[in-house]
Amino acid sequence: MPSNNLSIALEDQYGAHHYAPLPVVLSRGQGVYLWDDTGKRYLDMMSAYSAVSHGHCHPKLVKALCEQANQLTIVSRAYYTDQLGHFLQSLATLTGFEKILPMNTGAEAVETAIKAARKWAYTVKDVPCDQAEIIACAGNFHGRTLAVIGLSTESQYREGFGPFPPGLKTIPYGDIHALKEAITPNTAAFLVEPIQGEGGIIVPPAGYLKACLDICRANRVLMICDEIQTGLGRTGALLACQHDGIKPDAVVLGKALGGGMLPVSAFLSNREVMDVFTPGGHGSTFGGNPLAAHIGAVALKILIEEKLIEQAKTLGKYFQEQLKTITSSIIREVRGKGLLIGVEVNAHYSARSLCLKLLEQGVLSKETHSTTIRFAPPLVITKDQIDDAVRIFKSVLESSVL
Ligand SMILES: *Cc1c(COP(=O)(O)O)cnc(C)c1O
Repeated sequence: MPSNNLSIALEDQYGAHHYAPLPVVLSRGQGVYLWDDTGKRYLDMMSAYSAVSHGHCHPKLVKALCEQANQLTIVSRAYYTDQLGHFLQSLATLTGFEKILPMNTGAEAVETAIKAARKWAYTVKDVPCDQAEIIACAGNFHGRTLAVIGLSTESQYREGFGPFPPGLKTIPYGDIHALKEAITPNTAAFLVEPIQGEGGIIVPPAGYLKACLDICRANRVLMICDEIQTGLGRTGALLACQHDGIKPDAVVLGKALGGGMLPVSAFLSNREVMDVFTPGGHGSTFGGNPLAAHIGAVALKILIEEKLIEQAKTLGKYFQEQLKTITSSIIREVRGKGLLIGVEVNAHYSARSLCLKLLEQGVLSKETHSTTIRFAPPLVITKDQIDDAVRIFKSVLESSVL
């Protein structure tokens, strides 16, 4: 084991075992690179599930964090601050949504979306009390809270954690008919990921989201896109739903919104939906705090200034093309959009053991499910760095053929 066994042993002894980390102890990051505690360098193909789209320790974000930390960090929403309004304005201007409710983690923002949809159903759509329904898709990942795992179809996320709140149902992903059939007069919202990230980088058929929006509009159902992983440039568009040319009723953002520094998430919608919230009806001690708001605003500024969305589009296309040129009996499929790429391996191989070999060769990835390897580097990656990753991946595949 190259890395420090003590760090691993301490986590193992004192931490809950709800993750199965690869055996590497990371101690430093810069851009697309991470270093372990022995000084070995790795190319990061995980980006903390897209939370580090700006690259590790982006100098402008580090500076912004330090400056704001010296100025004002947390005051609670009992007061206004000189930061929050500017952050909300930047995000609204960039995305075209009228109103924003800031939270911290992704799951909290999804919970906020579900609460908003339910209350909208009762107060605007006149759904009978406590009858509102939320529809989500099989294979989804929307976070780990109880309502959210109540929407999950993944048994390991749910097992032993019931009972779950009522009014939640799931339909197959990518299936427009199933959505039509699942909608009832009590349906409040359809919650969907434009690409299922944790589900294995599953890209639905082109036009799927557009067809969903048409069905939702025809039935007065809110369409909410969970863009926590796909949003903010990851797929080569500001929001992945824009590939289908649509603007849903609401969007949930997180991960990259915090610039890889802090948990910053948000629920974005129009006035009609957001106005269901009145003082006391929802809240969060840390949501919208000035430190988070400042980091969020700077993260958005960098996204535009450094053209990270365009970068994800062109380099993502290049990366996928390069991966597709690999001829190996191990690869079943290369799929994804922008810099959210999944390589599906043949069922005889384990994605995890390939990830362990990649780790040895200085590339950090992680399997999603047992057969998909994720290639989702920080959006600041260069062509040369992609070439390095592809070359290493090729050599790992060559040495792994059974
Ligand atoms: C990561 C993720 C979440 C949950 O975010 P947390 O910050 O871990 O709570 C929700 N939805 C999607 C699509 C995600 O990728």
